[in-house]
Amino acid sequence: MFNHEELKVYFRGEFVDFKDASVSVLNTAFLYGLAVFTGMRAHYNEDSKKLYLFRPAEHFERLQQSCKLCHYKNFLKNYDYEKFLGAITELIRINKIAEDVYVRVTNFTDQNTITPKFFYYNDSLTACLYAMGNYVPTTGMKCLISSWVRVEDNALPARAKFNGSYVNTAFAKTEALMRGFDEAIFLDSRGHVVEGSAENIFVIMKNKVITPPVTDNILEGITRASVMAIAKAEGFEVIERSIDRTELYKADEVFLTGTGAQVSPVILIDSYQVGNGEVGPISKKIQDVYFNAVRGRDARFKDWLVEV
Ligand code: PMP
Repeated sequence: MFNHEELKVYFRGEFVDFKDASVSVLNTAFLYGLAVFTGMRAHYNEDSKKLYLFRPAEHFERLQQSCKLCHYKNFLKNYDYEKFLGAITELIRINKIAEDVYVRVTNFTDQNTITPKFFYYNDSLTACLYAMGNYVPTTGMKCLISSWVRVEDNALPARAKFNGSYVNTAFAKTEALMRGFDEAIFLDSRGHVVEGSAENIFVIMKNKVITPPVTDNILEGITRASVMAIAKAEGFEVIERSIDRTELYKADEVFLTGTGAQVSPVILIDSYQVGNGEVGPISKKIQDVYFNAVRGRDARFKDWLVEV
């Protein structure tokens, strides 16, 4: 376990001490949350003594799309996948990390001014490392349907990972924790199930693996795409369709996915047990395959990993 404050941080194109990676109180990223990010994990394999980044190409691509929405010209001009990957792997290497690590990569409006807008502002990239265990319980969690509605595509698109949209997450997560639950599940304004506060959602009904489509105001999660591939490889039918609230209450199994959450089964939603109130067999199977895949223990998914 390491202390991230003792590590080097990638900041404006250089590797600097943690204390030197800071912005002004007038920076628009601080004032208004004008920034986009991605968070990825690298997993250490104790047997091979190797550290594997999980799907960095997909993280780069999503970050690039988020930057495009914000007209972040510096990122779009200066970073291709090779340069991005080079910065991340170098950051892990110079910090001599040989354990599981979470990499937070943020591209932010690097301008000290009052008007919240994107165009013609300077933007900069930063990346730092964080020791993250389980972001939420992975052995069965309790979820609350949030009374807060998910921000929608015409307001604050979930498709892009805007830092500012995590105020919406914070409302839902706070409400869930204060009421004694582990995590929140968002509905949209039509009442459809969207996702967890920072996770995509899957529902199992009659052996079918069902998840909301990308047009239902979800973040297009990289774990979600991986889990869909795992479920198909394991022979399950995977369906992308809108999900109603009451389907959650009658589902056989439910689980959440995300870089932080990994594959986290849900055993209670509001006052309803999911299935028999224990982690279901399909969720467990998919979770096991995922945990093996990220550590390079499943040849079928080797392409997802980049050795640091
Ligand atoms: N939805 C939201 C709102 C998130 O913050 C996250 C975490 N990044 C996810 C879904 C899962 O995405 P991923 O699997 O790419 O981490």
